[in-house]
Amino acid sequence: MANEQDYYDLLGVAKTATPEELKKAYRKMAVKYHPDKNPGDKAAEDKFKQISEAYEVLSDGQKRTAYDRHGRAAFDQGGYSQGSGHGFHDPFDIFREVFGGSSGIFGDMFSGRSSASNAGSDLRYDVEISLKEAFDGVEKAIKYNRNVHCGECNGSGNAKGAKSIKCRVCGGSGIISMSRGFFSVQQTCPECHGQGMKISNPCVDCGGSGLKVEKTSSKIKIPTGAFSGMKLRMQGFGEAGPRGGSMGDLYIVVIVKNSSDFERDGDDLHCRLEVPFTLAALGGEINVKTIDAEAVLKLSPGTQQGTVMRMCGYGMRKLKGEDRGDQYVHIGIIVPKKLSQEQREKLEAFALTFSDDQSKESKGFGWFNKIKDTFK
Ligand SMILES: [Zn+2]
Ligand SMILES: [Zn+2]
Repeated sequence: MANEQDYYDLLGVAKTATPEELKKAYRKMAVKYHPDKNPGDKAAEDKFKQISEAYEVLSDGQKRTAYDRHGRAAFDQGGYSQGSGHGFHDPFDIFREVFGGSSGIFGDMFSGRSSASNAGSDLRYDVEISLKEAFDGVEKAIKYNRNVHCGECNGSGNAKGAKSIKCRVCGGSGIISMSRGFFSVQQTCPECHGQGMKISNPCVDCGGSGLKVEKTSSKIKIPTGAFSGMKLRMQGFGEAGPRGGSMGDLYIVVIVKNSSDFERDGDDLHCRLEVPFTLAALGGEINVKTIDAEAVLKLSPGTQQGTVMRMCGYGMRKLKGEDRGDQYVHIGIIVPKKLSQEQREKLEAFALTFSDDQSKESKGFGWFNKIKDTFK
């Protein structure tokens, strides 16, 4: 089912589409391809999933930026998601969100899907890493509390030998109907919370919930080239579902801390380098810090304040492949605040060597002429 079609193409919108345009495009397509409108049509169902995925990514500013920069690689195995499958939401959840829940225009059509399910909830865990750790990739130990199935009753909530009984309020359907004027409104049964069953003799260990809080420790491998907002999915590491229901997933959200040395722009790094004015004028070599070591930067004679020099392949490691981004060095020029008597004399002598042509050459440097005049 790996369809590599571009998310923008899938929704039929331009790369510059506004959030409103995206929503409009998604609504139109989602209604057309919804499985309830196309029963048994596998192609329509696939398409429905794909457009939901595309909308989920493009409607989220952070994810959209990641997608624009890295393409689908940002969300692939070891990238956006881990374990099997993608770290995307249920397409029906997205559909409900956009159409305003089950009270939306297709409310009745989809209400069956929103009834309580036994699936456990997903959890989120934020992990902060340094820029260097994002460059190298890092393994982090995580500890958190979550609900797991009670070992005594295997999550059923029943005492040994006891069985759940049908809920008397809803008759086991988990749903009750109420009349409001002309309308009949369906609601999740408040007695059994939509389970349809009630515990008659609860398990002593968990009190009938079937769940127990457990301290969970795990290790998470954050890939090389990780970026802020990246989500890693650990399947089955979320909360246990009630009544022996399935486990939810754990989403690790990566936060890359700011570095004092570098500013990151995608795979590229930017830094500032202050060089003595003599070196800038004469040219020469200077050491510059890189994310993993040091490199020698060659300045040509007459390097100006604000010059940006690109060091190819000295940036961040890319999420996929062996490549690296670039490092951009923004040159600042240091002018000494104090000069010795000897330095001052030499600099004055140098200033006087400037011909009028040379000083005019540097347009916008009127200050230089003023200084020159004071020496005359
Ligand atoms: Zn129990
Ligand atoms: Zn009930």
